[in-house]
Amino acid sequence: MLEANLKSQLKAYLEKLTRPIKLVAFLDGSDKSKELKSLLDEIASLTTQISVVEKEDASARRPSFSIGEPGKAASITFAGIPMGHEFTSLVLALLQTGGHPIKLDDATIEQIRALDGDFSFERYFSLSCHNCPEVVQALNVMALINPRIRHIVIDGALFQTEVEERQVMAVPMMFLNGQNFGSGRTGVKEILAKLDSGSAERAAKELENKPVFDTLIVGGGPAGAAAAIYSARNGIATGVVAERFGGQVLDTMSIENFVSVKETEGPKFAVALEQHVKEYEVRSRRDGRAAGRKARAGPYQRDSSGERRGAAGQNDHSRDRYTLA
Ligand SMILES: Cc1cc2nc3c(=O)[nH]c(=O)nc-3n(C[C@H](O)[C@H](O)[C@H](O)COP(=O)(O)OP(=O)(O)OC[C@H]3O[C@@H](n4cnc5c(N)ncnc54)[C@H](O)[C@@H]3O)c2cc1C
Repeated sequence: MLEANLKSQLKAYLEKLTRPIKLVAFLDGSDKSKELKSLLDEIASLTTQISVVEKEDASARRPSFSIGEPGKAASITFAGIPMGHEFTSLVLALLQTGGHPIKLDDATIEQIRALDGDFSFERYFSLSCHNCPEVVQALNVMALINPRIRHIVIDGALFQTEVEERQVMAVPMMFLNGQNFGSGRTGVKEILAKLDSGSAERAAKELENKPVFDTLIVGGGPAGAAAAIYSARNGIATGVVAERFGGQVLDTMSIENFVSVKETEGPKFAVALEQHVKEYEVRSRRDGRAAGRKARAGPYQRDSSGERRGAAGQNDHSRDRYTLA
């Protein structure tokens, strides 16, 4: 099933495994099940660290397979055959389950570990979706770090009935404990910000201890980035808070007709935006969501136009406070 070149590359990667992995396959008599079995056997033939077993489970999606360490509950399951753009997610899941280090900073790993609750994620993808692997890989590492997180990655093309029942209109789409958890490209930090509500309060407290901004820009899309750059260029103490830096451009591969940029890719454009902002003294927080504005406490007056003025007569809105969610 795997081309010779891909097979030799995979073999080299699998040499990095430092502990054994068990793949548990749930199959039926369909052609897709046969295809999956042959893929798993082929992978297992490349290293002595991987074993494949078949299991009967009427409640499991078929074909599907879980990836785990022998003797431990598996936290990652692929329903379908993760080829196409998802092949990288499969390889990473194998490497990380087999002891290859996870590339996240210590604070983020600790935050994932400390999440309190049982989180069962189901994520729908398609083999041609460019944005799906990032989300799949984000949830996979979270599931590997915290055993109370489970992640099932589902190829919507093979499970059409549930796609229709759950009204999955676009991929990637995510369900948490059976409830819609959102769609679109999402990284570890954004998922964490949604799961760990306490983190927003902690971050808000940290912000309180930092110097006050003259301007705080809410949003890190092209508009927020442009506002930050021009504000900072004028010597104004500027901050940016955004749920995700890049905004909508992260949701597309193909950016055309953006003034002066004839053609580029969404993620590339988002990185360029962030780098441009970083050229200036702008403090940014990527995973924050402004939830509400609280007017500054204390005396103020309104001028003849109704604009609020502080004691010194200056426009006083810059001292309003935003709450972060
Ligand atoms: C699939 C697709 C293809 C596209 N193709 C093109 C193209 O080819 N050419 C082109 O010119 N345009 C294209 N666009 C449109 C382009 O991406 C948008 O016009 C542009 O991103 C708008 O920029 P913005 O900064 O106004 O808003 P957005 O990009 O929407 O950014 C909004 C920002 O605000 C943040 N945010 C929102 N609410 C909060 C909150 N409460 N707290 C904190 N942060 C918050 C978000 O996280 C984000 O960072 C495309 C869009 C999509 C979705």
